[in-house]
Parts: sequence; C-alpha cells; structure tokens
Amino acid sequence: MKRILITGAAGFLGSHLSDKFIKEGYEVIGMDNFLTGKEENISHLFPLKEFSFYNHDVTKYVHVPGHLDYILHFASPASPIDYLKMPIQTLKVGSLGTHNLLGLAKEKKARILVASTSEVYGDPKEHPQKESYWGNVNPIGPRGVYDEAKRFMEAITMAYNTFHKVETRIVRIFNTYGPRMRMDDGRALPTFFAQAMRNEDITVFGDGDQTRSFCYVSDLVDGIYKLLLSDYQFPINIGNPQEITIKQAAEEVLKITNSKSKIIYQELPVDDPKVRQPDITKAKELLGWVPKMSRAKGLQLTYDSFKSEI
Ligand code: NAD
Ligand code: UDP
Repeated sequence: MKRILITGAAGFLGSHLSDKFIKEGYEVIGMDNFLTGKEENISHLFPLKEFSFYNHDVTKYVHVPGHLDYILHFASPASPIDYLKMPIQTLKVGSLGTHNLLGLAKEKKARILVASTSEVYGDPKEHPQKESYWGNVNPIGPRGVYDEAKRFMEAITMAYNTFHKVETRIVRIFNTYGPRMRMDDGRALPTFFAQAMRNEDITVFGDGDQTRSFCYVSDLVDGIYKLLLSDYQFPINIGNPQEITIKQAAEEVLKITNSKSKIIYQELPVDDPKVRQPDITKAKELLGWVPKMSRAKGLQLTYDSFKSEI
C-alpha cells in the first residue's frame, strides 16, 4: 500500500484530498495543527485503519515514522481574512514549513507536491494567467505575507528539485469552493452564502466588477491527483477558466438561496486583484485534465452542505 502524508489535512482542500487518496487505496497520514482547520472535516476518517493523524505544527521539525511514497503540502491559511490575522504564521508555514517537508521528502525519497496559488501572479497585468507569467506582487502590502511565502515555496521547491534531485510537483490553485469551507473564513462564496442564508446584507467589496474564476473542489482534487502521478515538475495552473464578476457571484448566491438579502458595497481591500482567470492549456495537454462541474451544480451542492451546517 502506498503511503502519503497530507499536511493541512483538517482544512477544506486537505480533507477532500485525504478522502480521495483513501478511496484510491492509499494509506493516508494527516497532519494539521487546527490553525484554520476543523476536526469535523476528518472525523469520519478516524475509525479507518488506513488513516492516521498527527496534531503537529509543520513549522517545527517534522518526523513521520516509516517510509513515505508521497507528500502533499497543503498546510497554510488560505483566506485573505485568515492570513491578514495571522501574517507571521502564514510566512512561516510557507517558508519554514515547506523547508521541513522538502527535507522530509529528501530523507524518505518521497515525491512531494506543494500547494501554490494564483496569488503568485498578484494583481495580474497578463490575462488570462499562463504559468510563464512572473506576476505583479506587492511584497510589502497586506497580501505580501501570503503571496511571497508561496513564491518562496516555489523557489525552494525548485531548488530541492535541481540541487537535491527531490521529485517535486507544484500546483498553482485558483479560487476553489465547495463543502467544508468555513462559513466564517471571509472568502467570497462562503461569506455570501452565510449572509444570504441569514438574510443579512451581502457585502460586495469595491464596485463588484473585479473578476474571479471559481473551481469546484472535486475538479481540483482530480487535477491534483493527476499532477502528482504525472512526471511534470514545473508549476501548473489548476482552476476553472469560467470567469465572473464578484457582483455576479453574489447574485447567483442570492438566486440559489432565494434570499431577501440586499447587496451592499464596501471598500475594496488593498491590492485586491482586479481580474483572475487561469489559462489551463498545460493541464489539458500534459495531464488530460479539464474541470467538469458546472457552477450551477457546484453552488447547489455547496448550498446543500451549508444548509445542514446552519
Ligand atoms: P484551509 O484554511 O481550510 O486549510 C489549511 C489547513 O492548514 C488548516 O487545516 C490549518 O489548520 C492547517 N495549517 C495551517 N498552518 C499550519 C501549520 N503551521 N501546521 C500544520 N497545519 C497548519 O485552507 P484551504 O482552502 O484548504 O487551502 C489549503 C492549501 O491550498 C493552502 O496551502 C492554500 O494556500 C492553498 N490554496 C487554496 C486555494 C483555495 O481556493 N481554497 C487557492 C489557492 C491555494
Ligand atoms: N469579496 C467580497 N465580499 C466579501 C469577501 C470577498 O466582495 O465579503 C471579494 C474580494 O474583495 C475579492 C473576491 O471577492 O475581490 C474574492 O475574494 P476571496 O476572499 O474569496 O479570495 P481572493 O481571490 O481575493 O483571494
């Protein structure tokens, strides 16, 4: 049985990835310190003999007994609200945490995939964003703690690849949504759902004309699975290229929830990217991956899961 370590396992993406690898017949070792994750996301896995869990902060030395075939490094605050509240932890988990996990991968001769982000493109001047674009990031702005940690993550991962010959994979994840997102994590979709379901005002920042391209979680998980098992070692975008304005996203949530809430407009956060859309040509050609879930169905599935939470 192949053994895989997943950091950030109690989080939104880490818990779905844990489910996927269990389903594919792997032994999964989850690791998380519950900084932004929830035990409920993985409590269904605790009874399984194929799953074990370490409550550990990956910025501290990481030890896992036995062999490892793969490592997925997903630990990191991911919502702008979370990483603005925890700037130092965010910088540390992207830098020291990644260093520890690359060291572990080298020691165990394991292949490691690290979770990078579309934020490495910053407020992009190239649209849609191809992997070859170097980005437009403000290192000292409020988002710099996340963006630069992820850019360092990519740099040190490539260095371990070339210098220590560690097998590495880098995924640049674009906005992903679905069940198990924290409804209070501040990201646009869970916030809009929470507000709509409570008939509170929907807070759209700026004029709502900024765009994002939302990918449903099952599509992202399939893309990551394919990337891990591929032989491609350079960064690759995984996301859904269907781009919408944030105002449109708010309106779609209002319609699905049949809510009486009104949209109100608030100040746009500093350095909030004006546009974002992945160019997924590489993922299509190299991995044979394209997203399959329509936004209408993905939003409905997300709503159904949030209903049982509220
Ligand atoms: P999340 O906050 O739900 O999950 C992150 C998990 O990491 C949490 O369970 C948290 O407790 C854990 N964690 C944080 N610091 C840790 C530490 N020092 N040691 C151990 N565990 C720690 O966020 P998510 O949306 O699941 O994001 C997961 C990863 O994917 C992150 O690396 C994020 O940067 C990346 N990503 C996510 C998206 C997205 O749209 N969801 C987009 C781009 C990149
Ligand atoms: N946003 C918003 N209202 C909210 C939360 C977010 O209008 O209550 C906007 C935010 O300013 C950004 C977009 O929605 O333009 C996506 O924000 P999110 O926090 O989900 O992720 P980002 O893509 O900015 O990392």
